[in-house]
Amino acid sequence: MKILIADDEDGTRLKLETLLAKLGYDVLVARDGAEAWELLQREDAPSLALLDWLMPGMDGVEVCRRVRQSSKVPYVYIVMLTVKGQKQDLVAGMEAGADDYLSKPFDVDELRVRLSAGERILSLQEDLRLQATHDDLTGVLNRGTVLDILHRELALVARKSVPVAIILADLDDFKQVNDQHGHAIGDTVLREAARRLATPMRPYDAIGRYGGEEFLIVLPGCGIESALVVAERIRCSVGKKPITTSAGDVPMTVSLGVAAVESAPPRGADELIQSADDALYRAKRGGRNRVEQSSNPDAPS
Ligand SMILES: [Mg+2]
Repeated sequence: MKILIADDEDGTRLKLETLLAKLGYDVLVARDGAEAWELLQREDAPSLALLDWLMPGMDGVEVCRRVRQSSKVPYVYIVMLTVKGQKQDLVAGMEAGADDYLSKPFDVDELRVRLSAGERILSLQEDLRLQATHDDLTGVLNRGTVLDILHRELALVARKSVPVAIILADLDDFKQVNDQHGHAIGDTVLREAARRLATPMRPYDAIGRYGGEEFLIVLPGCGIESALVVAERIRCSVGKKPITTSAGDVPMTVSLGVAAVESAPPRGADELIQSADDALYRAKRGGRNRVEQSSNPDAPS
């Protein structure tokens, strides 16, 4: 796990760096508050930080306050390093959003157990975050989260003129699986289908469960042509072989509707989803297990 140490004293910093590396942490070092703040704003920022209270320029408390104001996700667990007896400082540090504190000179074992406590909290935070953003059954994003992503991407279309495409994917005759084999088998099929839907996607694409057996896929940077290629790959990925369950093999296919916004003025999320839904309806009516595209992919609203 990555950890940031920020301390202006060379001795303390070196001691901590050696110690934490020995404990198995991936250590990043800052010599003052400004450097610490810079490192904490990065995308791959550490989620554990040991901040010295007293540093020239921006002090540890100020760094802490900024991190909390930025509502950074994932959460950063902050331990303040204080000099013994500074009770008022301690109160201010905790009020600024520090999670814990450690008095200097610190005890090695105490440091170790405090950091383990921090890791436990971070792991719980991460569980909560996943629960709040993901669908319990299938493990893909939930409806609210994938819609948030779509709104964000549509805002980029307007600002940067990059296209965005969506795919609505609906499992074919899924109701029959539940009717024939029961909901437990239906759940197994749904989980495996979701996994297969996600397989052809790029790391920055997003997939969420939009309804019962309907999934919304957001493809940033994709125009309609590339999105059709992805949709076809997804169709093959789902239907290539039956899904194995405890009740035997269950054949499953998917129908897909594709729509894209290629330039400003962008359509709103609702309108784009409606276009994809119309295309999906045509795929269903056309015999299922097929891809259809929005008939008027770039029509202005
Ligand atoms: Mg200091």
